[in-house]
Amino acid sequence: MREQPIYFFMLLSLFITPFSSFSNETSAKKESMESQTESPAYLYKILSHRHWQATENRKTVVLPAEDNDFIHLSTEEQLNKIIAKFWSDVPQFVVIKIRTSELEGELKYEVNPGGSTKYYHLYQGFIPLSAIVESKVIYHQPLDACQMNHLNVVELGDPVLRQPARELSKNEILSPEIQQLIHEMKATMRAAPGVGLAAPQVGHPIRLVVIEDDDHTHLTAEQLLERDRHKVPFHVVINPQIYLDTAEMVDFFEGCLSVPEFVGIVPRAKSVRVECLNERAEPMVIEAKGWYARILQHEIDHLNATLYIDRAILPTLMTEENYVKRWKGKAIQEILENLVPSLSR
Ligand code: ZN
Repeated sequence: MREQPIYFFMLLSLFITPFSSFSNETSAKKESMESQTESPAYLYKILSHRHWQATENRKTVVLPAEDNDFIHLSTEEQLNKIIAKFWSDVPQFVVIKIRTSELEGELKYEVNPGGSTKYYHLYQGFIPLSAIVESKVIYHQPLDACQMNHLNVVELGDPVLRQPARELSKNEILSPEIQQLIHEMKATMRAAPGVGLAAPQVGHPIRLVVIEDDDHTHLTAEQLLERDRHKVPFHVVINPQIYLDTAEMVDFFEGCLSVPEFVGIVPRAKSVRVECLNERAEPMVIEAKGWYARILQHEIDHLNATLYIDRAILPTLMTEENYVKRWKGKAIQEILENLVPSLSR
């Protein structure tokens, strides 16, 4: 088991409530231990630093796309375990403490797929800023190291996103510069958090992608099934050739770190074959279906200067905020019928 990391705490300027240690809240702990029908007074949410910063000037907390179907919350005693399991590689993140009585939506206490631990999930809801009583930034590394490991993700309008990326030679792949870039892209993807990141998104027009889809705590068994989504360990895709099996197309929402605060429905091939090199410059063949196939199509599109908005069903492009408020949990077909005029007639 991992050693307890050294935490550096700091209060963010966004909140005026005074800082006090979470461990002082013995009453909240007691309540969350004893009751399944009655929710505890306080719950916690771990957020990337980017989403926390984007929250400024909003009335609700900006959450990652992973929280679109329901918001995964934790009790105080679950926090350390979640941090050790899913956030230990992220150099910097934020924990917010939420007053349960002010949450909007339907709060359920239930088991996650494949696990036995129960968590609180908020359905059809959001976290109003007024419900937050405390926030902590947690650094697993000194601040200068955090900043060193974090690459800047460029956004829509940066020309590098519209420039076809070039292939890497074997010598380049094995060079310390590219190995360091892979390391930093992994840290940046995890911190965002995201399930894929392409080199052009961090300013390098080269055919290199990192992928990892490992954390499914925010999804129910039905949602995993609906998306055909399975765990994909961290891996690197270099100089890929992608072959789409377009016999069956699947519509689902996508978002992109380079198109912040928007999501849209994108039709994608259900299965793909990718021929590429790995980080040791060894040839690799990937046969993927479902959600993994979608990630590969999205990321490899980046290498060809294509963004998901180029392929999205445009009337379904929406702010994450409106997605959460209006469409979260609804069937894709229903959303299409409501938003795409040619379908509703
Ligand atoms: Zn993207």
